[in-house]
This record gives sequence, C-alpha cells and structure tokens, in this order.
Amino acid sequence: MLFDAGGIFVIPDPHVLAPLLAYYGASSDLDVYHRAHYAGMAAKSRAGSPESDWSVYNAEYVAVAGVSEQDRAEAAEVLGRTRNAHTWRHPLRDSVEALRALHERQVPIGVVSNAMGQIESVLARSGVCQVGEGAGVPVRVVVDSHVVGVAKPDPRIFDFGMAALPGIDRSRVAYVGDSVTMDVDGARNAGLLPVLLDPYDDHEGAAFLRLTSLLDLL
Ligand SMILES: [Mg+2]
Repeated sequence: MLFDAGGIFVIPDPHVLAPLLAYYGASSDLDVYHRAHYAGMAAKSRAGSPESDWSVYNAEYVAVAGVSEQDRAEAAEVLGRTRNAHTWRHPLRDSVEALRALHERQVPIGVVSNAMGQIESVLARSGVCQVGEGAGVPVRVVVDSHVVGVAKPDPRIFDFGMAALPGIDRSRVAYVGDSVTMDVDGARNAGLLPVLLDPYDDHEGAAFLRLTSLLDLL
C-alpha cells in the first residue's frame, strides 16, 4: 500500500488556523477544521483545480469553518498566505493507528506526497512515520515530489514508490489519497488501485473505492 501524506496522515494544523480564522468569525472548535479540509478538497476536485491553485479550497474551507459571507474573500486570502507546506503537520490519530496495524501485519507500506521537500521530516516529527525505526511507524519510503522532481497527477512519481516494493505487481498496490484529480486519477494512470479517503461522504456514487477512515483498511 502507498499513501498520500496531506489529508491522509496530516492536515493543516487547526491550532494555527483556528485562531487565524476566528478573527473573521470562524469556529474555535478544532473538529470543524477537519471537516473544512475535506470539504475544501472535494470542492477543489470538483473544480478540477491544478495542484498549485488552492483558491477554491481556501474559499470552501473558510465557509465551512464558519466565516460569514462578507468576510470570506479576505479570510480566504489570509488563509492562502498563512497555510504553507510546514503547517500540514496535525496528525490524524485513526490514520496513524491504521498504519501501525498494517506495519504489524507486515503489509509493505510507503508514502508518495506532493510536497516542498519537508514532508519526510514533518511526518517524523509529528510521530506518523519514518523510513526505518523511530517514534512513528516504519515505512519503506517517503517520496517527496520536490525532491524527486515530478508531482502527482504525473504517474511517474509512483515509480519512486514502486521502487520500494520490488516484486509486487502494480495492480496489487493500492494508493490512498484525498484528491480525485491528483491521487485517484494519478494512481489510476500509474496502474495502481486508487482509493479515496472520504470521511464525510462528499463523493457519494463515485466510481472508485472510498474509505471513511484508514481503519477501514484493516
Ligand atoms: Mg492529499
């Protein structure tokens, strides 16, 4: 199994973003920011936004977080300027628990992420995973698009993950992500089995596998 990182093991840190957006009237309930992330991803996928364009995500995120209509444009701009690669660091407990169980079952596991060169250290510091032994779950590889020079949805990025799974046919490898356009389409084009983490059923009726939680994998 190969996994995306953002939205799968870590989300933008609500401890940073809730105070930022509460100024614009958003909720201070951190659970709301979990919902806001997946709503933002669903909106971004529906719009067909490229990886670099987070405007639709930001607009949906601030709306779901509770910013009132007249303040949303400004709040979305401030969110876009504040949320950077290093703020994708808030670990998802269910996901880490599931990854630990997969490791204990000796399922070969790795991470393939569109990132900025930071994701391996962030996943380690957040206690999610690392290559080899450590505080998090041992994984075979953490692929960072910035490091390898190719990003999802380009299917070539998955070659770097597959290199850590020698002898395993691509058709037997699932890739779990939270973006239809980057992850599902990219993994399918790479010959992997795409799976979407969709905890709020935002993609009901979709023609690909979906999970409510990574614990469903067990
Ligand atoms: Mg993601």
